[in-house]
Amino acid sequence: MSISLQARGIAPSPTFALNERARLLREKGEPVINLGLGEPKNKTPITAVLSSVAKLREGDVKYTRVDGIPSLKKAVIRYTEENYGRVVAPENIIITTGAKQSIFNILYTLLNPQDEVIILAPYWVSYPEMVKMCYATPVVIIPEDGTFYHRMQEIEQSVSSYTKAIVLNSPNNPSGALYPADFIAEIVDFCERKGIYLIMDDIYHKLVYEHKQWEPAWNFTDKDIENTRVIVVNGVSKLYGMTGFRIGWVIAPRKLVQIMINVQAQMTSNPSIVLQSAAEGALTGQQGLVENLRLTFENNRKVMLNELKAFTDLKVVPPDGTFYVLPDFRAYGEDSTKISNFLLEKALVVTVPGKDFGLEGYVRLSFAGAVKDITEGIERLRWALDPNAPNEIYIGDRKLIRDWL
Ligand code: PMP
Repeated sequence: MSISLQARGIAPSPTFALNERARLLREKGEPVINLGLGEPKNKTPITAVLSSVAKLREGDVKYTRVDGIPSLKKAVIRYTEENYGRVVAPENIIITTGAKQSIFNILYTLLNPQDEVIILAPYWVSYPEMVKMCYATPVVIIPEDGTFYHRMQEIEQSVSSYTKAIVLNSPNNPSGALYPADFIAEIVDFCERKGIYLIMDDIYHKLVYEHKQWEPAWNFTDKDIENTRVIVVNGVSKLYGMTGFRIGWVIAPRKLVQIMINVQAQMTSNPSIVLQSAAEGALTGQQGLVENLRLTFENNRKVMLNELKAFTDLKVVPPDGTFYVLPDFRAYGEDSTKISNFLLEKALVVTVPGKDFGLEGYVRLSFAGAVKDITEGIERLRWALDPNAPNEIYIGDRKLIRDWL
């Protein structure tokens, strides 16, 4: 078999691989708890269901414009005005197949081979792989030990004449960190001055806790939408729990959007009209459900942090946002893949190794699931990692036997 060097260099998705292993265990009847979840467990918003059903009933499911249907763009324009305080034109927007394709479209539109993209660790797993798919080079910056924040000085030192873009995800998957406003202000100013694109992945922007305030990066530039280097990515996956609908969008200067449309036209064309209609239904329907989801996660977060207090050796930075926490597991070992595998095999709990997010020694735990799963999952982790715990425990009639990491 002949596989290209380029394709061979792309890492498999760690979360897909873990979920598959968990599924196989569950099929065997094992009581697996999934703390690796990357999506809310809510039901699809009813307005999303109704508008996609209406589209299906019409029986007119065809190609749409590549950049998305005008009515969804109108909803995105309103969303942007309400949440970002910016008025943008339809020509500044491209609707994509999930925020994932938004990010790919941007990178593919901006990057030449050899170009560099700065990525702040811990990062969402797909950023470096997508940069590599564009034949460019990811430049990863690791934060100072024990923190999830970066100093502007470090970023400036990593910039070269090849630096085309910086990707920023705030609040951050996997750490839950919300970057402080003064940091965002500094990086926006730097990028505008240097002509470096700042790709803001805002996919979790409303999921913030304890009265923390998320602020759009656009607030820190006086350039208009056609001249700014700040590019915004958002979508319905996380805030509306509509991961399966695969709808995201980019907001950027129209010259860039025009090229992204050409790129998308030759790849996937438009996202399905049925799914675009669903996203429109979500954006134009009752918005209280986003706040309800946030409140559920705020409560889950409290439960998770409370459970984690029982570990004396874990270092936990409480997350400001998202539905993840990224404790430092180095007291138990340096190899996070080994730790995650051990936790799955011995305690039947799915977690995601920090190594996949560019931060070895940490493990990502999700609180997107049910409270019962969070409490039971963390109790099982404690049992598996505590040297003084009993040698065996029962989960129903399944006996778990202690082993050593
Ligand atoms: N950005 C981040 C930070 C994410 O966590 C995810 C989903 N896990 C995405 C983008 C992609 O979102 P979508 O499902 O809309 O493609």
